[in-house]
Amino acid sequence: MKLVKHLANLGYGSRKDVTWMFREGRITDAAGEVLYADDQVAHEDIRVDGEPLDPPAGLTVLLHKPAGYTCSTKDSGRLIYDLLPPRFRLRSPLLSPVGRLDRDTSGLLLMTDDGALLHRIVSPKSRLDKAYEVTLAQDLRGDEAAQFASGTLMLESEDKPLLPAEMDVLGPRAARLVLHEGRYHQVRRMFAAVGNHVDALHRSRVGGLGLGDLPEGQWRVLDAADLAQLF
Ligand code: URA
Repeated sequence: MKLVKHLANLGYGSRKDVTWMFREGRITDAAGEVLYADDQVAHEDIRVDGEPLDPPAGLTVLLHKPAGYTCSTKDSGRLIYDLLPPRFRLRSPLLSPVGRLDRDTSGLLLMTDDGALLHRIVSPKSRLDKAYEVTLAQDLRGDEAAQFASGTLMLESEDKPLLPAEMDVLGPRAARLVLHEGRYHQVRRMFAAVGNHVDALHRSRVGGLGLGDLPEGQWRVLDAADLAQLF
């Protein structure tokens, strides 16, 4: 593939923008030699402003989403894409959230351009664990863990009971919930179904992947070892 098209597909700019970047000498090889649009150079050997290129198709990032950001490409408020380099919104294929977190939910959000990975995780058949820490408006009653584990709890306007989920009490108004499916607003609706209200929600784990010490608002690219945690 021509270098201009390759860089444009990675979101570094339109083909016109990238052509200018070549003219400005911003695109070099690993040794700092300026490259030209017609050069034949391997992906790994290309630098933009001295930085290696993002991985080509197959990029998956883990974002520590703060509350207040929407998982959408268009919205009037703050977007998850505002936390990423602008080129991540321009890549083709697009880097999309792997399942959404509500605007007011914080925590671990995966984003990928790998359609197969996305489908495998968000598919209704996926049983990948997701762990949430929940802060509640009212004290726990004491029967919530049993209700969530029962496999019989129904959410309003649904006709299939929820799969069993595990809940640990962390405090009078705090709990950790591990789900094995992903329905719309599931955690908030589960607590509504047992007469409570979620004041704050944080996702701490998806499969075997946690946030580690990644600060809120920051992101990192996942490698093969990370991705293995999602199987
Ligand atoms: N469940 C919810 O209710 N909201 C989220 O953002 C994620 C899970």
